[in-house]
Amino acid sequence: MRSVTILGSTGSIGRSTVDLLLRNPDRFRVEALTGNANVSLLAEQARLLRPKMVAVADEKSHKPLVEAMAGTGILVASGAAALVEAAERPADWVMASIVGAAGLEPTLAAIRRGCVVGLANKETLVCAGDLVMGEVARCGTTLLPVDSEHSAIFQVFDFDQIDKVEKIILTASGGPFRGRDRAAMASVTPAEAVAHPNWSMGAKISVDSATMMNKGLELIEAHHLFRLPEDRIDILVHPQSVIHSMVAHVDGSVLAQLGSPDMRTPIAFALGWPTRMPAPAPRLDLAAIGSLTFEAPDPVRFPALRLAREALQRGGAAPTILNAANEVAVQRFLSSEIGFLEIADVVERTLDVMPARTIDTLEDVLDVDAMARRVAAGQKPANRPAR
Ligand code: NAD
Ligand code: MG
Repeated sequence: MRSVTILGSTGSIGRSTVDLLLRNPDRFRVEALTGNANVSLLAEQARLLRPKMVAVADEKSHKPLVEAMAGTGILVASGAAALVEAAERPADWVMASIVGAAGLEPTLAAIRRGCVVGLANKETLVCAGDLVMGEVARCGTTLLPVDSEHSAIFQVFDFDQIDKVEKIILTASGGPFRGRDRAAMASVTPAEAVAHPNWSMGAKISVDSATMMNKGLELIEAHHLFRLPEDRIDILVHPQSVIHSMVAHVDGSVLAQLGSPDMRTPIAFALGWPTRMPAPAPRLDLAAIGSLTFEAPDPVRFPALRLAREALQRGGAAPTILNAANEVAVQRFLSSEIGFLEIADVVERTLDVMPARTIDTLEDVLDVDAMARRVAAGQKPANRPAR
């Protein structure tokens, strides 16, 4: 029996992970579950999975969670330190599926135990990639990518012959505004931006997919996971989301991994690793799909791709700034404070005004992250017509 902790069990990835655990009660037992403020869902998951501990980030949710767990014997805790405590509990396998840099410290705590970590929380690698990968190596941790593109690459990647890999090719759906001109993108609403054509996901990553910042974050994630320089990572728009990514080799051979767009497949790959386990995702019916299409991404309509590539080239604090500014800009867009096109503007202006510096420690990451959030929050929206 494998013991499992889910950091962020109430989110989209967390719920899919819970679904797989409930379908396989003989293979897994649960050590800890964490959420932010969705007490009723966390309590429901806890009643079904019987973890030893549940924790919420939001302190105000402490009392309602204690009440919901009364009589179960399950330990209840709250606050940022409680999430780290949950990650430190002795689970064999940890799903890191908190959204944003809020996941960094709990994910690092799990990594430092040298267990197996399934990583969905890409922002952790974007904001602190060198630090995180250094700890993975130092602690002998197995880090398994859960992001569908990185899971695809991992499944076909030959880690013994990295020098024979010419390129990796990350596929991108192009998001809901793939065919829209820039003028029309100016007036899209948060509801339109979170409605992804292929994948059902949390709000933040859905907006990131619409701006294509998601692919920019994934470029940085891939650089750290597969130790390839930025110029050997390509991005290809593939609207059907069937080919999840590809690896091209020096002999011209290209290997790809395919599947339906259902996160339970890459989650099951990581959860069962090193053996495969069944997942209930719809089976791929290529005859019904008929054709797969591809196109180059448009750097003019999707400037976030350029910003991420430049941040990776620049290195140091730039990816940390990019990530923090993007988190703030997405939240400002979701609360209708800025327009859709201004998300990338806020990120670019924050990158422009923040000083270049190196990142050596966790404190450096947290300092830069906090400063970039303040700068991004203060960026005035451009003059735009009232809607
Ligand atoms: P979500 O918004 O649905 O869930 C986020 C989870 O994090 C929830 O459990 C929430 O309670 C918790 N959380 C939010 N803010 C928190 C905070 N401040 N402190 C502690 N916990 C907090 O997000 P999601 O779509 O499940 O995505 C989670 C991560 O996985 C993201 O990094 C995302 O980029 C990545 N990812 C998601 C998908 C997907 O299909 N949803 C695919 C690939 C990668
Ligand atoms: Mg992805």
